[in-house]
Amino acid sequence: MQLGGLHHVTAVTTRAAENVAFYTGVLGMRLVKKTVNQDDVSAYHLFYGDELGRPGTEVTFFDWPHLRVAPNHAGAGEISATELRVRGSEALDWWAGHLTEHGVQHTGVKERDGRLFIGFTDAEGQRLRLADDGGEGVAGGIPWADSSVPAEFGIRGLGMVDLTVRELGPTAWVLAEALGFRLVGEHEEGEDRVAVFEVGAGGPGSLVRVIEQPDAPPAHLGRGGVHHVAFRTANDEEQRLWRERLRAMGLGVTPQIDRYYFRSIYFREPGGILFEIATDGPGFATDEDATHLGERLSLPPFLEGRREEIEGRLEPIPVAGGASRR
Ligand code: ZN
Repeated sequence: MQLGGLHHVTAVTTRAAENVAFYTGVLGMRLVKKTVNQDDVSAYHLFYGDELGRPGTEVTFFDWPHLRVAPNHAGAGEISATELRVRGSEALDWWAGHLTEHGVQHTGVKERDGRLFIGFTDAEGQRLRLADDGGEGVAGGIPWADSSVPAEFGIRGLGMVDLTVRELGPTAWVLAEALGFRLVGEHEEGEDRVAVFEVGAGGPGSLVRVIEQPDAPPAHLGRGGVHHVAFRTANDEEQRLWRERLRAMGLGVTPQIDRYYFRSIYFREPGGILFEIATDGPGFATDEDATHLGERLSLPPFLEGRREEIEGRLEPIPVAGGASRR
């Protein structure tokens, strides 16, 4: 039994309309689902991904407007960067120009551990990288043909996440001993100790980079921060086994929660970061036709009866072409 790699990252926005404009218009991801937070139906939950929102390609956002005045405080105990994978150095050259054209400040094309990347943030300070996956690693997604970004340069999913913690040991233990990740590199970066792990087929799509900063203040989640990272499991049966295993190792883990597009269990690793294990299926085409993903508000069955009330409380999101849709 092995995890299949990264499943999704869920982050915080406070401006849903601007968020959609950036992730679809500038980054060229497909908005594959627009729904509400199951625990707070006044807030959008937005899902971006490849053409179908395949597992491993998803970046999702809780829209929490009340955090507009509360920027994320970087520190220890958080997911400190999300790396998105593209294919080839020409793609990165194209992205450098594209980001500049859209007024997005970026690092230019840099190299680390033999791989090229560009670092930048969205308007709310979300820490992002685009990196060349070299055609390696877990199979990437397929960029949406109707994307604003040319398909050959399109984002193919998550490549890696960075975790920042005070102490490497306990987080490394959970990754290696509990979740079956393999240590593939350990080095110093300035003052920081860094360890890189992979899982499943390995390489981009499965990489977790743990950065040890003993003196970092505790991170405080806010606007532009990341809420949790999810790892892939094949099905309910394997998820049940993961849950048993985590419980046996003394890690408090939630019961299975049905997120409709996948099913999830959650636990907090000792460094303070929320981990999720999510099933690969059933996927985003369960309640919408694949050609019309994300165009209207999707509600889980238990909320469908309240559609009118819920839609009435959400601010419409302008979409390309000028129409506004909830
Ligand atoms: Zn999640």
